[in-house]
Amino acid sequence: MPSARSFSRHPLPSYFLLLLPLLYSLCLADHLPRTFHTLSDTHLKQITQLSPPQWTSVTSGHLEHLLIPRPSGSENNTLVQQYISSAFSSLGWHEDQTPFTDDTPIGPIKFNNLIYTFDPLAPRKLVLAAHFDSKYFPTYPENQFVGATDSAAPCAFLLDLAEALTPLLKERQRRVTSGQALLLDGLDEEEEAETTLQIIFFDGEEAVKDWTDTDSIYGARHLAETWETTFLPPSHPLSKRRYSPTPTILNTIDVLILLDLLGDSNPRIHSYYRDTDWLFTQMSDVDKRLRQEGLIDVEKGEEGWFVDFKMRKGMIGDDHAPFLERGVSILHVISNPFPKVWHNLADDASALSLPAMRRWNRILRVFTAEYLSLIPTTNTPSQRNDHGPYSRSADELVRYSSI
Ligand SMILES: [Zn+2]
Repeated sequence: MPSARSFSRHPLPSYFLLLLPLLYSLCLADHLPRTFHTLSDTHLKQITQLSPPQWTSVTSGHLEHLLIPRPSGSENNTLVQQYISSAFSSLGWHEDQTPFTDDTPIGPIKFNNLIYTFDPLAPRKLVLAAHFDSKYFPTYPENQFVGATDSAAPCAFLLDLAEALTPLLKERQRRVTSGQALLLDGLDEEEEAETTLQIIFFDGEEAVKDWTDTDSIYGARHLAETWETTFLPPSHPLSKRRYSPTPTILNTIDVLILLDLLGDSNPRIHSYYRDTDWLFTQMSDVDKRLRQEGLIDVEKGEEGWFVDFKMRKGMIGDDHAPFLERGVSILHVISNPFPKVWHNLADDASALSLPAMRRWNRILRVFTAEYLSLIPTTNTPSQRNDHGPYSRSADELVRYSSI
């Protein structure tokens, strides 16, 4: 993560950037706002109890594989990519990779974003993202930096989220494709299934030297540029709904939720963009309901993670910027002020708080389930590695997933 960056350092005038999300949401009137389906207390509890179970230590599970120095282009960076890829492969999600080489202050480096989509044919996507690279330091001991909050923990949250919700997504997909879609609390599952879940792991977020417009967010800049110029085929549902301009992959994104600098105790989370104040408030409400139901452990003094959305803060430069510039709605979930250990060797496992990580896992599970109107039923399996009946033919995948 870079240091805090205000609009004034951006090449575009600040008022123009503030207007962009509004202008874009007017163009995508069929996207926002979405009806947010609030789960009952019983369903809330069921979602928190889905497999995988609560973490038992800050180094258990995924973090065991992520907490290594993993700067872009390094052997460890490739190892982490392989680990994430194998986790999603076992869940049966569609994978896209975007390998490319870019010039950096220390020469050309190979980068690779990893993109996972539950249903690559769905016309709309809720996107959650984090960066998986760690900051590069050339000499010992700084080159042992593992970036626990920056952003190994957020990546682990996303892996946990995919594992927990995949059985629900598959179950709903099975009902829809077999003509057994349910009407749940007035919601038509077939219609709700038009929005799928996509998870992006960005490479090259960190500056190789000092944060500048060209030495930072390598992966996010590459992906936003690529998706802006990748047009959807005429057969895509969004193409049929619009006349001009021809929709691109960017148009399939409802909102991009970027996680960064999380996992330590007592973060302060702010809302940065007016068009997603309502989503920020939903996430804050999820946290509040989980606390009220006693479904998360909250240490004394940690109740106020989410600051009132009206206490808006200036934009922080991060992977969302190139998407924001292209009109994508953004929810930036980042600790502000940054963790005390930021870009310091102390940002290791000892910087992570187990109660805070469990709390994030549960907030994200419930928030995402409610956004996608995913409701656990008595048949919901809790096992991992259940490929289930959901599958797409290779022919179908080629149609919309080229990036
Ligand atoms: Zn960083």
